[in-house]
Amino acid sequence: MSDLSSRAETLRRTLNRYAHEYYVLDAPSVPDAEYDRLFQELQAIELAHPELRTADSPTLRVGGQPLPQFAPVTHVIPMLSIRTETDVSEQGALAFDASVRKELELSDSDSAVEYAAELKFDGLAISLRYEDGVLVQAATRGDGATGEDVTQNIRTIKQIPLRLRESEGGAAVIPKVLEVRGEVYMRRDDFEKLNARQRELGEKTFVNPRNTAAGAVRQLDPKIAAERPLSFYGYGLGAIEGWVLQPDTHSSVLNALTEFGFPVCDIREVVQGGAGLVAYHARVAVLRDDLPFDIDGVVYKVNSIGLQRQLGFRTREPRWAVAQKFTAEEVLTTIEAIDIQVGRTGALTPVARLAPVFVGGVTVTNATLHNQDEIERKDIRLGDTVVVRRAGDVIPEVVSVVLDKRPMIDVLGADLFDVKHVEQYPAYRLPTQCPVCGSHAVREVGEAVTRCTGGLICAAQRKEAVRHFASRRMMDIDGLGERYIDNLVDLGYVNSLADLYRLTLDDFLEMKRRADDRDGATPESVKAGQVTTKWAENLLVGIEASKQPPLARFIFALGIRHVGESTAKTLADWLGSLERIRHAPAPLLRLLPDIGSTVANSLAEFLAEPHNQQVIDDFLALGVTPQGEHVPNPALREKLTLGALLAALEIPKLSAARCNALVVSNSSLAELSSFSLGRLQDAGLSKDIAQSFFDWLTTPAAEVLLQLDTLRTDLLAALPAAEAVPQGVLSGRTLVLTGTLPTLSRDDAKAMIEAAGGKVSGSVSKKTDFVVAGEAAGSKLQKAEELGVKVLSEEDLIQLLG
Ligand code: NAD
Repeated sequence: MSDLSSRAETLRRTLNRYAHEYYVLDAPSVPDAEYDRLFQELQAIELAHPELRTADSPTLRVGGQPLPQFAPVTHVIPMLSIRTETDVSEQGALAFDASVRKELELSDSDSAVEYAAELKFDGLAISLRYEDGVLVQAATRGDGATGEDVTQNIRTIKQIPLRLRESEGGAAVIPKVLEVRGEVYMRRDDFEKLNARQRELGEKTFVNPRNTAAGAVRQLDPKIAAERPLSFYGYGLGAIEGWVLQPDTHSSVLNALTEFGFPVCDIREVVQGGAGLVAYHARVAVLRDDLPFDIDGVVYKVNSIGLQRQLGFRTREPRWAVAQKFTAEEVLTTIEAIDIQVGRTGALTPVARLAPVFVGGVTVTNATLHNQDEIERKDIRLGDTVVVRRAGDVIPEVVSVVLDKRPMIDVLGADLFDVKHVEQYPAYRLPTQCPVCGSHAVREVGEAVTRCTGGLICAAQRKEAVRHFASRRMMDIDGLGERYIDNLVDLGYVNSLADLYRLTLDDFLEMKRRADDRDGATPESVKAGQVTTKWAENLLVGIEASKQPPLARFIFALGIRHVGESTAKTLADWLGSLERIRHAPAPLLRLLPDIGSTVANSLAEFLAEPHNQQVIDDFLALGVTPQGEHVPNPALREKLTLGALLAALEIPKLSAARCNALVVSNSSLAELSSFSLGRLQDAGLSKDIAQSFFDWLTTPAAEVLLQLDTLRTDLLAALPAAEAVPQGVLSGRTLVLTGTLPTLSRDDAKAMIEAAGGKVSGSVSKKTDFVVAGEAAGSKLQKAEELGVKVLSEEDLIQLLG
């Protein structure tokens, strides 16, 4: 008994603190599910042992104390709580129906009770008092008897009518007094926008929509409240004078509220009996994650107000209503370990191993902690009790730490009661060495990710690299699953990607034998000397069949950082061959469409590594032949100007315009090396820039100019000769169409010109080759004549096109 009594005392103290944090401070430290769990435990103790119920028990109270900063408002009709049913199964709803029927002394043969089923909005309850149709006061629930006067703040919510709407024709009577009760809440999109703005301003972001809404309403400065986007739904009534509702049901109250101009949520139903409640709960469970706002469950209310009166109240809640929850999306658990996973690009990802918890409908045992910054921001440590969230199909995340549940550990292994020896776990830091291969793990400036520097020496990266290489969108090696890859790498059969093509039947069989040995999983049949080989033969067929990938896929399969499917395709389309791609320097890569500096640098770094080039050589030697190679894209000719190549070197302060000016009369980049300081200035560089470029030209780095010259010459030579490009009579010519042509529409004329290689432009300039003029040609014809541009008729054009 004394154990129970002290448990009850602990529960009371804990719940009172949580309630204060939630209701008064709008800053809960634990998820609702945790509060509900403890609340139910206390209720159960008190039910079994009523003598343990004390006056300060949270089970007897509603909400929290009103804040003294606000004027108190006494509720004429108290604002009560609603009993929470945490059994989320059908039983939860059926039990409520059974208790109502019991209270009403209905027998099985009596008809079903009618209920109004609604959403339980997750916000803050407000009572709005209208006198003669005008909003005179808005109050929070407070402790149920006394609330806080928040009229100023509530007036800023546009959805709340300042004056009741009179129904069309003015037939409806405006009551003398009408108190409307409802929930102020914040929509999820408004919440996201608010947080985005906070981030932009470099200010603290808000934790969730419910606390943000509650905090905004209980804000002393109405200007700040006005900046927070709040919404409102009406769900009931308080005091009424001078108004009689017909029919006397809760659902008609809600309909009447809409007539008066209040928003009332559409997702409400009048249902019959327990089965109706179960169906409503199931319907909302499906909708829940797609609603534009958070809900705290659903509420079932006996629809007839007469029956509501008959059922009456318990201490803090009506007998005619209950709130039923859904599977919790936020729960508490503890972090048992923090493991490091190493990805294909060497990224070290910390992953929390959690004490298994049921959340959002599944059992969760781990959650990514992303990176060092994220761990620091949330101050996550080993042993911590954390809030884990899993909503819908979104992957589970650690939302926050419950600081006062942080464990103490015995640091010296000495007497636990010696306070000096007991500390918290230290702040978590990612290792500085890769846990898989021991190479340095480094975090580059400006990057959130810490990476293993081991490259393909690192088994973890090698496995990921092989997985990537073999997957369907890449080399598409049939049958090479995760388990085989792990064993091939772990047992040393695949040390580089190219090794895949060296594997023999014996290798596979030996690998399997060793892996089974290691795992103590050798099948009896094998022990008896029967070895199956079909699986290995199939794998070899799969590997053989992958040897002729399209060029772009092969490039993608190499797993170069930042080189995804579309970059690989750009490289293949523009450069046309593996040889050209593997020898392309960064400046050339930068000239290709959609390839920025990050991608170009990462690709150039990869290609500069001799061991990567060796792997490519090995592939070729082992018979891997990329398919569909072709000449480079002829459009490269326009891109490969000296000025553009010089600019792509990204020499500080040398803008594209300056680069063009510098090479204007050169035939190679190497010529620049012989420029004097004076000549650089003559080419338009300021003294400073000329000097710094001049200095650069004398460094070994400037040798790249020579290399680029060679590369450019080679590439241009590889392009199809100008004449060989399928040419039309109008190739390279610009034409302008004006006026109405006698037979051709504009579109047809344009299509014909383009088919012949010409370009149609909208305005006439010196560069225009021909103007095709029809009837009522205006200023363009005039301009052509001024500039001496040749003018053609439709007939001339057709003749020209043959
Ligand atoms: P309650 O359970 O007493 O229910 C009544 C309240 O429900 C009303 O005041 C109103 O604000 C709201 N409501 C929303 N939709 C409604 C509708 N359609 N009809 C009638 N009322 C509607 O509510 P409460 O005490 O404000 O909140 C209980 C919730 O708060 C629980 O989910 C509980 O877990 C949570 N809580 C959490 C903590 C914590 O520390 N995390 C502490 C206290 C309470």
